[in-house]
Order: sequence, then C-alpha cells, then structure tokens
Amino acid sequence: MSRDTCPVCPHACRLRPGEVGICGARQGQVERVAPLNYGQCTALALDPIEKKPLARFYPGTQILSYGSYGCNLGCAFCQNWEIAQVGRATQAGTARVAEARFISPAELVTQAVELEARGNIGIALTYNEPLICPEYIGDVAEAIAARAREQERNQARSALLAQKRTRDSVQDKTQAQELLQPEFQPQKQSLKLVLVTNGYVMPAIAEQVFAVVDAANIDLKAFNQEFYDAVGAPAGLSTAKRSIQIAREAGCHVEVTTLVIPGLNDSAEEMEREAAWLASLSPELPLHISAFRPAYKMRDTEATSASLVYELARIAQRHLKYVYPGNV
Ligand code: SF4
Repeated sequence: MSRDTCPVCPHACRLRPGEVGICGARQGQVERVAPLNYGQCTALALDPIEKKPLARFYPGTQILSYGSYGCNLGCAFCQNWEIAQVGRATQAGTARVAEARFISPAELVTQAVELEARGNIGIALTYNEPLICPEYIGDVAEAIAARAREQERNQARSALLAQKRTRDSVQDKTQAQELLQPEFQPQKQSLKLVLVTNGYVMPAIAEQVFAVVDAANIDLKAFNQEFYDAVGAPAGLSTAKRSIQIAREAGCHVEVTTLVIPGLNDSAEEMEREAAWLASLSPELPLHISAFRPAYKMRDTEATSASLVYELARIAQRHLKYVYPGNV
C-alpha cells in the first residue's frame, strides 16, 4: 500500500492507510491524510479572553473556548497533556478521546451566539493544537461568515420595514430622509475567531488559516533551536517565527507567549534577542512571559520564580511596549 504525505506540518508524516501521524490526530486514508479529530470536542468553556492569553483584543470580554485532541509537539511540560498528548499513548488521553463528542462548526457557532448575552465575542480553538486540523478551522470560519451574512440579510429586512413605517408616519420628507441614513440600524459585529497555537505548521497552511482568523496567541517557546529540538520540532524556531510573520501579514491580531522554564530558556541574553526580533516586526506586538509550573513529565522541575519572570519582562520592555508577566 502506498504512503501519502501529510501537508499540514513540518513533520511531513508519510502514512499508509490506517497509520496515524505523530500528532495522534491525522490518519492515512486512501489517497489522502485525513483528520480524526475533526469536530471531536474534549473541552468546551466560556473563558475570559485574557486567559488565552490575549491582553489587547477586546479586553474584558469572554470567548467560547473549544478543544479537541492531539498535538504535533511533545513538550514534557505540557499543561493540557491529557488531551494534547494523546498521540503519545497516554491512558488519560485515550479516556478523554473516548468521551469526545462531535460538535459541527454550525453547532459551535449556534452555541457561541447563545452566549453573546454573557459577553461572548466568538470562538477560540485552544487547549490542544488547533492547526493540526485546518479543515475544522476553515469550516468554523465559514460558519461564522454564513451567520454574519444571515445577520446582514435580517438587518436589511429590518431597515426596510423601518423605512416603510417611517414613510407612513413622518410627513416631512426631508426629516424622513435624515432618519434613514445607514447608521439608523447599527451593524452588529460578527463573531471573532481566535487560535491559541504553537505555530508549528507549513507556511502554505499558515497563509490559508490566518487569513480567516481574527486573533491568535502564538507560542515562541524559546529563542534557541535546541529547546525546539527537545520538544520534537526540528526547525521549530524558524517555523514559529515564520508563522508569527505570516499571521501578522494576513491582518490577524497576534500576541506571543513564551513559557519560561528554569535552565532551558531563561537567560537574559536569549530574552534580549527574542524581544529585539519581535520589536523588528512591531514594538507594539504584545508578549506574554509566563512562569512554568510543574506538569506532565516535568513534575519534579522547580517552578519559575516570579522574580525571574519580572526580570525578563524588564529586559523585554526595553524593546516592546506591551509585556505581560503571567502565572506569577
Ligand atoms: S499534522 Fe504534522 S504530525 Fe500530524 S500527521 Fe500531519 S505532518 Fe504528521
């Protein structure tokens, strides 16, 4: 049986029918590699937008956060390992996948709309790595666009009805025309689509996806390739940098997160280089510097001290206007 190459991420898994890729979420099928986790929801919650973290995108609002399973990186410090690392055969992961329930893009949009009264502004694809299923991202974006078109049609109908009522009741023609200016019926904003991602994806996929996404928090896990090698991402640093650039060029609001782990990516010199590079894209690009907490395979590693996070934040602030210490 022939193998097909998955086009989604730089692992470029070559899979025979039935074989599953490194991410645990895409499978070789006849003449293609297809997602197994399409719409398979393992987690759904209404979260503050700041929790994604996004600090400068509709602050103070909420976002319906959806997670599936699988990830193309193997971070030993993964905070969501039960769903993200399922491809690496964890018992807990297998149990969570068994409990997953299918949510179609249209159903997800309906749920998001129902939550608008509670401050919801859209949908965040998060918790596991969303880019390993670009099909779902595209379909959710299309469902949001379809809902916006429907909303526009309803607004146009309401405006026509209002025009008719006004014509019937207002004698003064000039006054009526003034009333019927476009601002007469305020446009409602459509739902926002947000990704929380490691950015480890092929440029062609990144270009397609970020063109339909409103905002993204993209990990820059470290500013050294050795760190990326340790999480199973050859060329991970250049790929993540490229994804950040592509997302910005696509007009997506981008914020970046670096989780600081003592001894692995915590040097002042490394933060200086990272912040200088981000500032070369824009000094206004927000950077979240988060403290590591023991998790998954790194339960014996010491947590990052608040003082180290603040020290690195001060270094980053020499280059960037918006730096946010997190987890401290
Ligand atoms: S997304 Fe990446 S890890 Fe998953 S099957 Fe495709 S190439 Fe492999």
